[in-house]
Amino acid sequence: RICKETDVKILIINAGSSSLKYQLTSIDENKIIAKGLCERIGLAGSALIYKPTGRDAYEFKKQMNDHTEAMKMVLGALIDPTIGVISGMEEICAVGHRLVHGGEKFTGSALITDEMLATMEELTELAPLHNPANLMGVRACREIMGDIPMVGVFDTAFHQTMPKKAYLYAIPYEAYTQMRIRRYGFHGTSHLYVSERAVALLNKPAENTKIITCHLGNGSSIAAVNGGKSVDTTMGFTPLEGLPMGSRCGDIDPAIVTYLMDKNNWNTSEVCAYLNKQSGMCGLSGVSPDFRDLWVAHNNGNERATAALEVFCYKVKRYIGAYAAVMNGVDAIVFTAGIGENDSGVREWVMKDMEYLGVDFNLDLNRKCPRGKEVELTNPNSRTKVFVIPTDEEMVIARDTARIAKL
Ligand code: AMP
Repeated sequence: RICKETDVKILIINAGSSSLKYQLTSIDENKIIAKGLCERIGLAGSALIYKPTGRDAYEFKKQMNDHTEAMKMVLGALIDPTIGVISGMEEICAVGHRLVHGGEKFTGSALITDEMLATMEELTELAPLHNPANLMGVRACREIMGDIPMVGVFDTAFHQTMPKKAYLYAIPYEAYTQMRIRRYGFHGTSHLYVSERAVALLNKPAENTKIITCHLGNGSSIAAVNGGKSVDTTMGFTPLEGLPMGSRCGDIDPAIVTYLMDKNNWNTSEVCAYLNKQSGMCGLSGVSPDFRDLWVAHNNGNERATAALEVFCYKVKRYIGAYAAVMNGVDAIVFTAGIGENDSGVREWVMKDMEYLGVDFNLDLNRKCPRGKEVELTNPNSRTKVFVIPTDEEMVIARDTARIAKL
């Protein structure tokens, strides 16, 4: 394969059960060449959205029965003589795959080999929805792109540095040793990226920094990052634990689960659907999982929307306090992802009354915070800084892929 060192291009793939997001990135020029997604794979009405940088997006409606057909469509668009951005597949030096669950086996990104895929299979029961979908993306690429180097970047890997006291649940120890039940944490790629950026903004050696990263999006989690390493995070054995989310409940008393099952005569899938799909901001407000809708409803006097927003911001505040406690201090609090980057109301409610932590929050700056930029929201003398840092998981995936594939 031609892989000119001056222009390393990496294809990043994030495969879900019926979708496949992709992005072609130039590492050396540090830019996105094209990106898009295939949606409704295997369903009626499937489509490819293709957006070359600096040009309009295209939408191609064509039946895609599986991920292999979807990958063929993606590559077809990338190398198309008129709308494409590369002359041939050989210009792609490596593929980086976003993989959800690496269990305790993967503490960092890894080269995808037959052996690695067999290990991934063993982890399927820990992430029955996500890992098989991710693997469909890997297999489709292998089938079409042959022996091109591929790297898996795991959502769980960054949190593998958590100490036992943070990851063990107080249930019989055999649950951990025999069934692998422990806190794993997710969104690791995002927490890693924004915490590294925060270290750079603090302008201190990473070893001497204590950072709390709040990834608030449709799925939300917070991490405590001490000396550059994750030492605790709110998501647990699954992404259901921690903060309330769009439609996931977050922390609840586990006895509620069996109570609900008894009361409603529900089986496990019914109770799982209730807690994963009908709860969180959506279930609490009865309005929407989307924070933009919640603020509109709140401003129109909808009390349930107000309650949902208050519960969310309160939980974020509570975890910030908890993580400052476990690290014996905090240098910076970072907001990222859809809500963290865009929702000044959430940031204002969370940061209210945080003077005890040394936060001198600038409300005006927060309200005027420009989109898509790294911004410091605290006044210059604030002992603890608050930053908005747009996340860039693709950057981490591309960087790790180039490093591990030795490009
Ligand atoms: P993500 O999962 O990071 O893409 O975040 C998606 C979520 O971010 C949406 O469901 C919204 O709740 C929230 N969001 C996106 N844009 C805004 C905005 N401008 N203001 C408030 N919330 C937003």
